[in-house]
Amino acid sequence: MDHDDTAASTRRLLLAAAPGGLCVVQDLLNSASMPVASVPDLLADQATAQAWLDTSLQTWSQQAGRTPPRITLSDDDLVALRELRSRIRGWLTDEGQDRSALTFEAGVALYDGRLAFELRGSGAAVVISLVLLESLLASHTGALSRLKTCMNPACGAAFYDLSRNSTRVWHDMKTCGNPINLRASRARRRTPPEARRAPKIASGERESTPSIE
Ligand SMILES: [Zn+2]
Repeated sequence: MDHDDTAASTRRLLLAAAPGGLCVVQDLLNSASMPVASVPDLLADQATAQAWLDTSLQTWSQQAGRTPPRITLSDDDLVALRELRSRIRGWLTDEGQDRSALTFEAGVALYDGRLAFELRGSGAAVVISLVLLESLLASHTGALSRLKTCMNPACGAAFYDLSRNSTRVWHDMKTCGNPINLRASRARRRTPPEARRAPKIASGERESTPSIE
């Protein structure tokens, strides 16, 4: 039976899953609490974390065509998973600090005409290797560069950008894009025209009108 949407971190934000095995990376990022969507942190306690992981592995299994590993999470695993989530977010948004290396062990097997990684270990260690391996694979196909986090600081939802030029910055225009654009345009209107002008304009050059993408 399928789990309900409260455990499905990406679906609870009404977002589509990133393609292939990359969905597990997106699910990890979206397990965080998002004030703008009023959703709680799914890694805050063991029961919600386990339900989240089971649901996420189910999606991963369907999309990657792999048998889902059976992973039971302890409270210590939750700490490790929250750390993994913050490091992956920092890495994708380029805001991560240099910390100790995250390492894992995995095997690679060629069988039945198929080359695939095999996960090892238990608990959080399996999730860490799965998330890092899928990130590595997606970084080689270019898919990883389309996995983005919403630019709204109160949001940060992870979405897969399918726009032609990969220019999407909001997980949802109505929830995050419009209110922020509106606030920015109101702030500009409040600023006296003098201060709005570019500090120095070379003679003969035309002043450009500020615009919001
Ligand atoms: Zn957002």
